[in-house]
Amino acid sequence: MADPTSTSCLFCRIARGELASRSVYEDDELVVFHDIHPAAPVHLLIVPKLHIDSLISVEPEHQALLGKMLLLAPRVAQEQGAADGFRVVVNNGPGGGQEVFHLHIHVLGGPRPWRQMSIGR
Ligand code: 5GP
Ligand code: ZN
Repeated sequence: MADPTSTSCLFCRIARGELASRSVYEDDELVVFHDIHPAAPVHLLIVPKLHIDSLISVEPEHQALLGKMLLLAPRVAQEQGAADGFRVVVNNGPGGGQEVFHLHIHVLGGPRPWRQMSIGR
């Protein structure tokens, strides 16, 4: 499902500024903020303002948006202190360990060790 916005969705509400987050980037299509339970010293979430549940429901019309999300990853990772490199993770659906059903890219980096949790393995 790809609604322009969802009234109850957590990340739609953060993207609209209704809920607080530690934001590090925003443009007309994307927001980037720190994960509330970081699994690494740098743990960012790249989130489209458009509500898309997950990669399971993306369409060809989302191609440019998906590319833009990935292109932003190295920039925000470096700006936030992941100088040595970073990991990107996208969980999709319950079987993929997704908890917030609004598409997002995790960007993880910074000095190791990282916290042991499913996201980091
Ligand atoms: P998922 O398992 O869906 O890929 O990841 C969801 C992520 O969202 C988790 O890493 C979780 O810590 C993060 N998260 C959940 N609620 C909030 C919130 O209210 N604010 C922020 N900044 N992150 C959240
Ligand atoms: Zn949403």
